[in-house]
Amino acid sequence: MRIDVVTLFPGMIAELMEWGIVGRAAKGGLLGVHTWNPRDYTRDVHRTVDDRPYGGGPGMVMMVQPLRDAIRAARAAAPGPARVIYLSPQGPRFDQARARALAEGDARLILVAGRYEGIDERVLESEVDEELSIGDYVLTGGELAAAVVIDAVTRLLPGAVGDEDSVRQDSFATGLLEYPQYTRPREIDGRAVPEVLLGGNHLEIEEWRFKQAVLRTRRRRPELLSGLELDKQRRRWLAELPAEDAREPESERTNGGNTGTAGERS
Ligand code: SAM
Repeated sequence: MRIDVVTLFPGMIAELMEWGIVGRAAKGGLLGVHTWNPRDYTRDVHRTVDDRPYGGGPGMVMMVQPLRDAIRAARAAAPGPARVIYLSPQGPRFDQARARALAEGDARLILVAGRYEGIDERVLESEVDEELSIGDYVLTGGELAAAVVIDAVTRLLPGAVGDEDSVRQDSFATGLLEYPQYTRPREIDGRAVPEVLLGGNHLEIEEWRFKQAVLRTRRRRPELLSGLELDKQRRRWLAELPAEDAREPESERTNGGNTGTAGERS
């Protein structure tokens, strides 16, 4: 997959390409990321990319011409359809479903990272297909948001993650948050791994994990449960769970996911 990023700070995107699964995908040819700096498309000696906002007010705004030329250069750099996405706190929230749609779509992506107070509205109108926000907070620039999109999309590309099952079982992929995970040692500081995970009975493990995932989702993100589609087996396991749970203690949600010896309490 090819992703182009229009950014005043290409080094921030280059750094992302050095590490982990994204780095491996880039080195293996699964992912090609190219950066386009609006400063390279300026026409004045100072290489100006921003100007004061009409109507006054604080900060600067990214000017139309250098930004538009950089986006158009990115669009012209490869054949086929391209989808131009402006990373913006004002866009719809980026989520796993959007990541999957982008990973599976035909269009290559052109991600536009804003800086300052943002970009001139006319670039949005003429060049941008979609806006995406990574959350209800304001970053100093769109590069970290672009990195989030690149990372989330890349791990959904077939072959990017060694074991495809891990992607299939992730939080949101099943409609549920993922069940608690444990690795060696079997016991530490008096906290033991749940017995069922040690027994080797795959059906029991599957049942325990499903129930834990439901309990966890019910407590942390109950709104996810409304769209849940389950097979017969899972509907039966769901029916065995208590209808209501005591609320998860605050410490459970803030201690880095340590769920103690028995996963979610019911
Ligand atoms: N003045 C803008 C506003 O209030 O909507 C915020 C501009 S912000 C300081 C600079 C750039 O950071 C934006 O143009 C956008 O590209 C990026 N950005 C900031 N927060 C973001 C978020 N939550 N998601 C995606 N991009 C964000």
